[in-house]
Amino acid sequence: MNPTPPRALTIAGSDSGGGAGIQADLRTFFACGVHGMTAITAVTVQNSLGVTGVHTIPPEVVAAQIEVVATDIGVQAAKTGMLATAEIISAVAAACDKVHIGLGGATPLIVDPVSASMHGDPLLRDDALDALRGELFPRATLVTPNLDEVRLLTGIEVRSRAEQRDAAKALAEYGSKWVLVKGGHLWDDPECLDLLYDGSEFTEFVGPRYDVRHTHGSGDTLASTITSALAKGADMVSAVRAGKAFIVESVRAAYPLGGGVGPVSPRW
Ligand code: PLP
Repeated sequence: MNPTPPRALTIAGSDSGGGAGIQADLRTFFACGVHGMTAITAVTVQNSLGVTGVHTIPPEVVAAQIEVVATDIGVQAAKTGMLATAEIISAVAAACDKVHIGLGGATPLIVDPVSASMHGDPLLRDDALDALRGELFPRATLVTPNLDEVRLLTGIEVRSRAEQRDAAKALAEYGSKWVLVKGGHLWDDPECLDLLYDGSEFTEFVGPRYDVRHTHGSGDTLASTITSALAKGADMVSAVRAGKAFIVESVRAAYPLGGGVGPVSPRW
């Protein structure tokens, strides 16, 4: 009999175009040798051109998906992506507490504070930012905002590496154990610096900047690679290093799809 692999849970939205969200997470988990499980928060009507509809799942159904897989199959690491509403965020926080996911429990929780698609379509209601900061960040082992999300969450407009450090410090105040401020949107920087902060020390992860058009799902892919590494028992610095190496290759392997923006393609 084959051994049971490490298991990871994604709590996120579905992208009907197959590029981002749940679909990107499952592809990444598979590529990393991890069994992937899903708690779906919303169904988006989406293709390569953008999101034309969002249908949220009842909060109690989101919570039930988390509890039912955790109590039977077991979760070694979990991540959140699109959470859509404050009500879903509260339900996710309560369910994670019940099954010991997040700080205070045994299972690491990665919170990717997804707020909009790359086309600017909203994936999180404005009134849900408070719930994200107040209820989920204090439970998070790691939060992974991009610079647009940093601006929404802290009001800090990052234009330099020094400001990226200020943003990491401001985000750490919300109570997560680690913060990863992704520098992909710092367009003037010839390299792409992701900055990890544990409340006292910074670790820098520098990668090449590729001028590519097809980057749909890159944030989800990075967060789910880190989640996979943690599920396999890696420490945080090694997990982020693995995530960075993986996302560089995945962006290089991105492909065109439809008439808009194509997805990154998870690979080592
Ligand atoms: N759609 C869903 C369901 C997502 O979860 C995400 C990101 O997490 C996106 C779209 C946005 O991806 P991108 O920013 O690559 O467009």
